[in-house]
Amino acid sequence: MKPQQLTTEKTLKSPILPTWCPGCGNFAIMSVMKRVLASLGVPEEDVVVVYGIGCGGNGADFTRTYALHALHGRAIANAVGIKLANHRLKVLVLAGDGDLYGEGLNHLVASARGNHDITVIVHNNQMYSLTTGQSSPTTKQGTKTRSTPQGVVEAEINPLAVSLASGATFIARAYAGLAKQMTDMFALALNHQGFSIVDVLQPCPTFNKGMSYQWYQQRVYDLAQTQHDSSSKQAAMSLAWEEDKLPIGVIYQQSSSVPYHLQVPQITAQTLIEQFPTQINLTAGMQQFR
Ligand code: SF4
Repeated sequence: MKPQQLTTEKTLKSPILPTWCPGCGNFAIMSVMKRVLASLGVPEEDVVVVYGIGCGGNGADFTRTYALHALHGRAIANAVGIKLANHRLKVLVLAGDGDLYGEGLNHLVASARGNHDITVIVHNNQMYSLTTGQSSPTTKQGTKTRSTPQGVVEAEINPLAVSLASGATFIARAYAGLAKQMTDMFALALNHQGFSIVDVLQPCPTFNKGMSYQWYQQRVYDLAQTQHDSSSKQAAMSLAWEEDKLPIGVIYQQSSSVPYHLQVPQITAQTLIEQFPTQINLTAGMQQFR
């Protein structure tokens, strides 16, 4: 049998160079993601990344992994399917706020409720940037964009509060301008047993000029420097609604989290792909519908 090749920063290197704008927060997210994946010590065939549609999702070309570039809004649904088929794989989702909090929001809620053991990393730049700057579900109410010249009418989604209310067992926020802090959050999320989400505050210097690196630097503060109790849902919900200052770090973590695949006896001992049926006889099952 061929020896397994471990995932390293070298194996993750793609011959295709990023096409992102200079200064885009996606560069830091991709390089931290590679560093953390390389630190896990897992064979490269045991890692699958599902990308959404958007600027961040274009990272599918700029990283060499087993990967799927999913339909818009369907990245989490695909990741859950992969995990259900073979729960021994490390499965990540990398997609934007429009993809995951707009078209794909119900998949986020459902996978958080099920505590599916996947890690969701959100490139949250509060904008649909690949399509040149339309408002997304996280664009602040009143913001003028190309699609909302009079200002956004709808209230913005609060992804931390939605995740918490949906039963997510690990919720963190990172800032793309602080690589060390983001590294810690990605590592914790990937080592969590169950559903984990890291909402990354990602500057988009081209289409979201109001939320620059300077803007974020004046507002973010690190929860590691506070007394925040990340096991308390009440404390986490209170943090989720802070607006003047933006907390980054572990917002909530449930320590006794049992992932979905360990609660379903049919797949706990053996993965679905190991017990894939070659012959199916539906006769007995169909009798009840006669
Ligand atoms: Fe990054 Fe914004 Fe450029 Fe997209 S449009 S690559 S999010 S800076």
